[in-house]
Amino acid sequence: MRRLAIINLLIVLGLGHVVGLSWHINREAIEAISLKVFSVQGRAAFELIQTARHWNAIQGKVYVPVSEATPPNPYLRNKDRDITDNFGRKLTQVNPAYMTRQISELLQGSEIQMRITSLQPINPANRPDAWEAATLQQFERSGQLERVERIGGRYRYFAGLTIQPECMQCHEGQGYRIGDIRGGIGFSVPAVQVDQLVSEMQQGSSRIHLLVFVFLSIMGVSLFSLFYLVRSRLSASVKAQAELQQLVERDELTGVLSRRALMEQLSTEIKRSSRYGQALSVLMLDLDHFKRINDSYGHPSGDQVLKETSNVLLRHLREVDFLGRYGGEEFTVVLPNTACLQAEQLAERLREAVSDCRIQLPGGEQVQITVSIGVTSCSRGELDAEVLLAHADKALYLAKQQGRNRIAVHGQA
Ligand code: GH3
Ligand code: MG
Ligand code: MG
Repeated sequence: MRRLAIINLLIVLGLGHVVGLSWHINREAIEAISLKVFSVQGRAAFELIQTARHWNAIQGKVYVPVSEATPPNPYLRNKDRDITDNFGRKLTQVNPAYMTRQISELLQGSEIQMRITSLQPINPANRPDAWEAATLQQFERSGQLERVERIGGRYRYFAGLTIQPECMQCHEGQGYRIGDIRGGIGFSVPAVQVDQLVSEMQQGSSRIHLLVFVFLSIMGVSLFSLFYLVRSRLSASVKAQAELQQLVERDELTGVLSRRALMEQLSTEIKRSSRYGQALSVLMLDLDHFKRINDSYGHPSGDQVLKETSNVLLRHLREVDFLGRYGGEEFTVVLPNTACLQAEQLAERLREAVSDCRIQLPGGEQVQITVSIGVTSCSRGELDAEVLLAHADKALYLAKQQGRNRIAVHGQA
């Protein structure tokens, strides 16, 4: 349960990170959109003013009556700057720059501000501020002609002005060539309104992300808990099944095959030897005078002898052979694809190995034990398990009769 709680906590933290990242990306995207929206507005305003300036420039000369608001432009040095019309009214030339400046003055006091500026202004009032100067220098370096940025509490849009053929009439004296960037026009608006829109969008995005996070966390934790519980129940039942199987198939004391599993294995091997026409041998082993061990050293020592004997037998068998505890102090060995002579040799090896072994008892004493072994074989699986075991048992009885610590083969006198 503690593990489940930790994993669930990790799931929630992981989801928190993913949703948090999505929220962060969304937040930046909303901020970027606000800049894009303003750049579209700025471009539209710039296009409009550019068109008006172009109109002015292509007229050749545009004159308006001289007034307090429109005195003659001191920066225009052409001789026909001021003229008198047929009605005796004084007119003065308004070139695109003068016109732009007048429009920007009209805009003063409104939310939108416009400025025309240049790195080499003819009119000192058009000198760029630091941001405009840096922007113009950047335009000259990069060839880029537009910049949008939020500075302080305002959005600022700035677009470069390039020299067109009709601009030359006023700017030729400054050494410009057609295509040069000679300045720019900037617009700025207060960020408050856009900020409010952005903050509403951000709040909406935060609410959605919080809901998604809660929903995903509930789903993730529920699904994982369900999966975890089902899996742990399943693995507990698989484990119990395996333990049950082990209990049925294995002898509890020695770990070798149980009598039941051994009988099943013997039947399988008989069928196999019948199908492939192979020989099959069975050994029946019985510990000699085992009762004496129990009587002299106690039952636990007898158990230790049984375990050690089964270990010695296992060490001397081939991988394909099967060792089972037939009962008490009797063991059975099934030897697939093994003829009688080979089985006899193997039985002899097993007998020797057991008699050579010194077994350490829990009380510290060492004992030596011997086994008697009955050997039997069938050539093509023609005998069933009971008959084979009965033959092996008879051979074992013979070995005991002949004095123990020996092998006897079924059929031998
Ligand atoms: P023999 O050479 O004729 O086989 O003599 P034996 O003493 O080995 O045979 P007997 O049948 O007289 O005695 C077998 C003893 O094995 C009797 C029984 O108490 C003991 N025994 C059977 N199963 C176990 C067991 O799991 N643990 C222990 N410690 N003793 C066992
Ligand atoms: Mg016995
Ligand atoms: Mg015995």
